[in-house]
Amino acid sequence: MSDPTRPIGPKIVAVANQKGGVGKTTTSINLAAALAEQGRKVLLVDLDPQGNASTGLGIEVDDRILTTYELLLEDVDLNEAILPTAVENLSIIPATVDLSSADLELISNEKRSFLLHDALRQVQMDAFGFDYVLVDCPPSLNLLTVNAMIAAHSVLVPLQSEFFALEGLSQLMLTIREVRQSGNKDLRIEGVVLTMYDQRNNLSLQVEQDARDNLGDLVFKTVIPRNVRVSEAPSFAMPVLNYDPASRGAKAYRELAMEFIRNNARQKVEA
Ligand code: ADP
Ligand code: MG
Repeated sequence: MSDPTRPIGPKIVAVANQKGGVGKTTTSINLAAALAEQGRKVLLVDLDPQGNASTGLGIEVDDRILTTYELLLEDVDLNEAILPTAVENLSIIPATVDLSSADLELISNEKRSFLLHDALRQVQMDAFGFDYVLVDCPPSLNLLTVNAMIAAHSVLVPLQSEFFALEGLSQLMLTIREVRQSGNKDLRIEGVVLTMYDQRNNLSLQVEQDARDNLGDLVFKTVIPRNVRVSEAPSFAMPVLNYDPASRGAKAYRELAMEFIRNNARQKVEA
């Protein structure tokens, strides 16, 4: 039975890992695009001051008028902040470098950890018809990432298939526990997805083995291969699914989306 106290509305997923360069933005863009391709309505919230998700989806800096900075610090009309992208069913709230000062500006704000949660309430009330909201987090466990985790139903963790990949996960898990204690007790771990996987490389196999041994079912069965088409796509301002739909990277993100959708159907039944 579904939980009658849970508001009907989109599922909000924070894509987080405090390490930079592990595939957070790539996964946010391409999982979002793959869900959109399946006919789901998806909102991507760019919560990284680097704005890579915004750039990767072709949102020019000049067009980023209302951004996640205003979303957190001012009263904004979501109708104006949400921008369409070239991908059908996929919208975005972009970010600019302005967001880099938000962390400091928020410190004295009593509601500092709940600002994204409150800002997304309108979306949560289902006024927009989104099925999923993905939040692309910055490479840090700062107040922005905490805002994402407080607002989210679950955290999806990209893990780069390289040495030391699992290091730092305990810090991330600790933050998730703290968030559960400080306002979002139902926060789940959506799963850990291995990125930039190279099956010819023993190290990738070893990292996968370690991750599966330590984290069990939390690790997605789908792994994302290292694929040059994935890294080229952002400079053409599109997801790899559109840039090269037949590439290994596009296929992997489609498979990840299917696994994600299946897991969510199961979670709904269990809830
Ligand atoms: P993060 O958001 O965690 O900092 P990114 O998603 O920006 O990480 O990825 C870091 C770099 O790795 C980018 O240059 C990106 O294009 C590249 N990259 C990510 N995933 C893949 C992949 N599967 N294959 C090849 N390159 C990738
Ligand atoms: Mg990023």
